[in-house]
Amino acid sequence: MLSEHVMQVEERIQKACERAGRSRDEITLIAVSKTKPVSDIEEVMSTGIVDFSENKVQELKEKYEILPKNLRWHMIGHLQRNKVKYLPGRTVLIHSVDSLRLAEEISREYARYGAEADILLEVNAAGEISKFGVSPEETEELARQIAVLPNVHIKGLMTIAPYTDDPEESRVYFKNLRQLSVDIAEKNIDNVSMSELSMGMTGDFETAIEEGATLIRVGTAIFGERNYNI
Ligand SMILES: *Cc1c(COP(=O)(O)O)cnc(C)c1O
Repeated sequence: MLSEHVMQVEERIQKACERAGRSRDEITLIAVSKTKPVSDIEEVMSTGIVDFSENKVQELKEKYEILPKNLRWHMIGHLQRNKVKYLPGRTVLIHSVDSLRLAEEISREYARYGAEADILLEVNAAGEISKFGVSPEETEELARQIAVLPNVHIKGLMTIAPYTDDPEESRVYFKNLRQLSVDIAEKNIDNVSMSELSMGMTGDFETAIEEGATLIRVGTAIFGERNYNI
Protein backbone atom coordinates (compact mmCIF):
# COMPACT_ATOMS: atom_id res chain seq x y z
CA MET A 1 0.00 0.00 0.00
CA LEU A 2 2.73 2.48 0.96
CA SER A 3 4.66 1.27 -2.06
CA GLU A 4 1.76 2.46 -4.21
CA HIS A 5 2.04 5.87 -2.59
CA VAL A 6 5.72 5.93 -3.46
CA MET A 7 4.90 5.07 -7.08
CA GLN A 8 2.37 7.91 -7.22
CA VAL A 9 4.88 10.36 -5.77
CA GLU A 10 7.48 9.10 -8.23
CA GLU A 11 5.10 9.78 -11.15
CA ARG A 12 4.47 13.29 -9.88
CA ILE A 13 8.23 13.88 -9.61
CA GLN A 14 8.82 12.65 -13.15
CA LYS A 15 6.07 14.86 -14.58
CA ALA A 16 7.48 17.90 -12.76
CA CYS A 17 10.95 17.07 -14.12
CA GLU A 18 9.56 16.89 -17.64
CA ARG A 19 7.81 20.24 -17.27
CA ALA A 20 10.97 21.80 -15.90
CA GLY A 21 13.32 20.17 -18.40
CA ARG A 22 15.27 18.59 -15.57
CA SER A 23 16.72 15.13 -15.24
CA ARG A 24 15.17 12.90 -12.56
CA ASP A 25 18.57 12.14 -11.07
CA GLU A 26 19.07 15.79 -10.07
CA ILE A 27 16.45 15.30 -7.35
CA THR A 28 16.58 13.17 -4.22
CA LEU A 29 13.29 12.12 -2.69
CA ILE A 30 13.58 12.12 1.09
CA ALA A 31 10.81 10.20 2.86
CA VAL A 32 9.77 12.07 6.02
CA SER A 33 9.06 9.29 8.50
CA LYS A 34 8.47 11.35 11.68
CA THR A 35 5.84 9.79 13.97
CA LYS A 36 5.65 6.70 11.73
CA PRO A 37 6.55 3.18 12.91
CA VAL A 38 9.54 1.19 11.78
CA SER A 39 7.27 -1.25 9.93
CA ASP A 40 6.10 1.59 7.66
CA ILE A 41 9.69 2.59 6.99
CA GLU A 42 10.55 -1.01 6.08
CA GLU A 43 7.71 -1.03 3.58
CA VAL A 44 8.93 2.20 1.99
CA MET A 45 12.53 0.91 2.00
CA SER A 46 11.38 -2.05 -0.06
CA THR A 47 10.71 0.35 -2.97
CA GLY A 48 14.39 1.30 -3.01
CA ILE A 49 14.18 4.56 -1.07
CA VAL A 50 17.19 4.99 1.22
CA ASP A 51 16.83 8.64 2.27
CA PHE A 52 14.65 9.17 5.34
CA SER A 53 14.23 12.08 7.68
CA GLU A 54 13.06 12.92 11.14
CA ASN A 55 12.47 16.18 12.93
CA LYS A 56 13.33 14.96 16.43
CA VAL A 57 16.78 13.72 17.41
CA GLN A 58 15.47 11.10 19.83
CA GLU A 59 13.25 9.54 17.18
CA LEU A 60 16.04 9.58 14.60
CA LYS A 61 18.37 7.90 17.09
CA GLU A 62 15.89 5.14 17.95
CA LYS A 63 15.06 4.37 14.33
CA TYR A 64 18.74 4.50 13.37
CA GLU A 65 19.55 1.79 15.93
CA ILE A 66 16.83 -0.56 14.69
CA LEU A 67 16.94 -0.15 10.92
CA PRO A 68 19.60 -1.25 8.38
CA LYS A 69 22.72 0.89 8.38
CA ASN A 70 22.61 1.65 4.65
CA LEU A 71 19.78 4.13 5.25
CA ARG A 72 20.66 7.80 4.93
CA TRP A 73 19.12 9.83 7.75
CA HIS A 74 18.44 13.55 7.36
CA MET A 75 17.73 15.81 10.32
CA ILE A 76 15.09 18.33 9.24
CA GLY A 77 13.63 19.66 12.49
CA HIS A 78 14.60 22.45 14.84
CA LEU A 79 17.70 21.32 16.69
CA GLN A 80 18.51 22.03 20.31
CA ARG A 81 22.20 22.34 21.05
CA ASN A 82 22.15 19.74 23.82
CA LYS A 83 20.90 17.11 21.31
CA VAL A 84 23.62 17.65 18.71
CA LYS A 85 25.88 15.06 20.34
CA TYR A 86 23.60 12.24 19.13
CA LEU A 87 23.94 13.13 15.45
CA PRO A 88 27.56 12.29 14.46
CA GLY A 89 27.65 8.93 12.73
CA ARG A 90 23.88 8.77 12.43
CA THR A 91 22.97 11.49 9.97
CA VAL A 92 24.16 12.44 6.47
CA LEU A 93 22.80 15.98 6.37
CA ILE A 94 21.43 18.48 8.90
CA HIS A 95 18.92 20.70 7.06
CA SER A 96 17.97 22.98 9.93
CA VAL A 97 20.95 25.12 10.94
CA ASP A 98 19.94 28.72 11.56
CA SER A 99 22.46 30.16 14.01
CA LEU A 100 26.19 30.42 14.56
CA ARG A 101 25.87 29.00 18.09
CA LEU A 102 24.20 25.87 16.77
CA ALA A 103 26.81 25.47 14.02
CA GLU A 104 29.59 25.89 16.61
CA GLU A 105 28.09 23.13 18.71
CA ILE A 106 27.80 20.89 15.64
CA SER A 107 31.45 21.55 14.75
CA ARG A 108 32.54 20.79 18.32
CA GLU A 109 30.57 17.55 18.65
CA TYR A 110 31.60 16.27 15.22
CA ALA A 111 35.25 17.07 16.03
CA ARG A 112 35.01 15.05 19.25
CA TYR A 113 33.68 12.17 17.17
CA GLY A 114 36.37 12.64 14.51
CA ALA A 115 33.81 13.45 11.82
CA GLU A 116 32.64 16.33 9.66
CA ALA A 117 29.06 17.53 9.32
CA ASP A 118 27.32 18.49 6.10
CA ILE A 119 24.68 21.10 6.80
CA LEU A 120 22.14 23.35 5.11
CA LEU A 121 21.16 26.80 6.32
CA GLU A 122 17.45 27.00 7.07
CA VAL A 123 16.03 30.21 5.64
CA ASN A 124 12.77 31.74 6.85
CA ALA A 125 11.88 32.74 3.31
CA ALA A 126 8.54 34.34 4.09
CA GLY A 127 9.61 36.04 7.31
CA GLU A 128 7.00 34.17 9.36
CA ILE A 129 7.29 34.96 13.06
CA SER A 130 6.30 31.41 14.00
CA LYS A 131 9.10 29.79 11.99
CA PHE A 132 12.71 29.03 12.66
CA GLY A 133 15.33 30.00 10.14
CA VAL A 134 17.63 32.88 9.31
CA SER A 135 16.22 35.80 7.33
CA PRO A 136 17.22 35.96 3.65
CA GLU A 137 19.06 39.23 4.34
CA GLU A 138 21.23 37.65 7.04
CA THR A 139 21.93 34.36 5.29
CA GLU A 140 25.17 35.33 3.54
CA GLU A 141 26.65 36.77 6.72
CA LEU A 142 25.74 33.61 8.65
CA ALA A 143 27.32 31.50 5.90
CA ARG A 144 30.54 33.50 6.20
CA GLN A 145 30.63 33.05 9.98
CA ILE A 146 29.96 29.31 9.81
CA ALA A 147 32.37 28.75 6.91
CA VAL A 148 35.40 29.18 9.18
CA LEU A 149 34.35 26.39 11.56
CA PRO A 150 36.61 23.36 11.08
CA ASN A 151 34.14 20.46 11.17
CA VAL A 152 31.12 21.89 9.38
CA HIS A 153 30.51 22.19 5.64
CA ILE A 154 27.64 24.24 4.23
CA LYS A 155 26.11 22.45 1.23
CA GLY A 156 23.18 24.71 0.46
CA LEU A 157 19.89 26.14 1.71
CA MET A 158 16.60 24.79 3.04
CA THR A 159 13.20 26.39 3.45
CA ILE A 160 9.67 25.53 4.51
CA ALA A 161 7.13 27.58 2.56
CA PRO A 162 4.16 28.99 4.50
CA TYR A 163 1.26 26.58 4.83
CA THR A 164 -1.20 26.87 1.93
CA ASP A 165 -3.58 24.74 -0.11
CA ASP A 166 -2.32 26.33 -3.30
CA PRO A 167 1.21 25.27 -4.34
CA GLU A 168 1.43 28.28 -6.65
CA GLU A 169 1.64 30.44 -3.53
CA SER A 170 4.90 28.68 -2.60
CA ARG A 171 6.53 29.47 -5.92
CA VAL A 172 7.78 32.93 -5.02
CA TYR A 173 9.53 31.61 -1.88
CA PHE A 174 11.21 28.80 -3.81
CA LYS A 175 12.27 31.24 -6.54
CA ASN A 176 13.70 33.60 -3.94
CA LEU A 177 15.59 30.80 -2.17
CA ARG A 178 17.09 29.69 -5.47
CA GLN A 179 18.13 33.27 -6.27
CA LEU A 180 19.64 33.65 -2.80
CA SER A 181 21.68 30.49 -3.30
CA VAL A 182 22.91 31.74 -6.70
CA ASP A 183 23.86 35.10 -5.15
CA ILE A 184 25.80 33.42 -2.33
CA ALA A 185 27.47 30.95 -4.70
CA GLU A 186 28.77 33.88 -6.74
CA LYS A 187 30.65 35.15 -3.70
CA ASN A 188 32.88 32.05 -3.82
CA ILE A 189 33.19 31.80 -0.06
CA ASP A 190 35.69 29.17 1.05
CA ASN A 191 33.99 26.07 2.50
CA VAL A 192 30.54 27.16 1.29
CA SER A 193 28.84 25.18 -1.46
CA MET A 194 25.37 26.06 -2.72
CA SER A 195 24.79 22.82 -4.62
CA GLU A 196 21.76 21.69 -2.60
CA LEU A 197 18.32 23.27 -2.33
CA SER A 198 16.03 21.47 0.13
CA MET A 199 12.51 22.67 -0.60
CA GLY A 200 9.09 21.21 -1.31
CA MET A 201 6.83 18.95 0.77
CA THR A 202 3.68 16.94 0.00
CA GLY A 203 1.65 20.00 -1.01
CA ASP A 204 4.21 21.79 -3.13
CA PHE A 205 7.08 19.53 -4.19
CA GLU A 206 6.26 19.78 -7.89
CA THR A 207 6.52 23.57 -7.73
CA ALA A 208 9.79 23.19 -5.82
CA ILE A 209 11.19 20.89 -8.53
CA GLU A 210 10.20 23.43 -11.18
CA GLU A 211 12.08 26.07 -9.19
CA GLY A 212 15.28 24.06 -8.75
CA ALA A 213 14.94 21.84 -5.67
CA THR A 214 17.58 19.11 -5.37
CA LEU A 215 16.13 17.58 -2.17
CA ILE A 216 12.39 17.25 -1.60
CA ARG A 217 10.99 16.23 1.80
CA VAL A 218 7.79 14.24 1.43
CA GLY A 219 5.88 12.80 4.39
CA THR A 220 2.11 12.66 4.06
CA ALA A 221 1.98 11.65 0.36
CA ILE A 222 4.07 8.57 1.22
CA PHE A 223 3.11 7.60 4.77
CA GLY A 224 -0.39 9.08 5.01
CA GLU A 225 -1.61 11.57 7.59
CA ARG A 226 0.30 11.80 10.86
CA ASN A 227 -1.33 11.32 14.23
CA TYR A 228 0.58 13.28 16.88
CA ASN A 229 -1.58 12.00 19.75
CA ILE A 230 -0.47 8.38 19.85
C1 LIG B 1 6.97 17.16 8.41
C2 LIG B 1 7.92 17.86 7.53
C3 LIG B 1 7.92 17.65 6.13
C4 LIG B 1 6.93 16.74 5.42
O1 LIG B 1 5.67 17.31 5.35
P1 LIG B 1 4.48 16.65 4.49
O2 LIG B 1 3.57 17.79 4.21
O3 LIG B 1 3.87 15.59 5.34
O4 LIG B 1 5.08 16.10 3.24
C5 LIG B 1 8.87 18.31 5.38
N1 LIG B 1 9.79 19.14 5.95
C6 LIG B 1 9.81 19.37 7.27
C7 LIG B 1 10.84 20.29 7.83
C8 LIG B 1 8.89 18.75 8.10
O5 LIG B 1 8.93 18.99 9.43
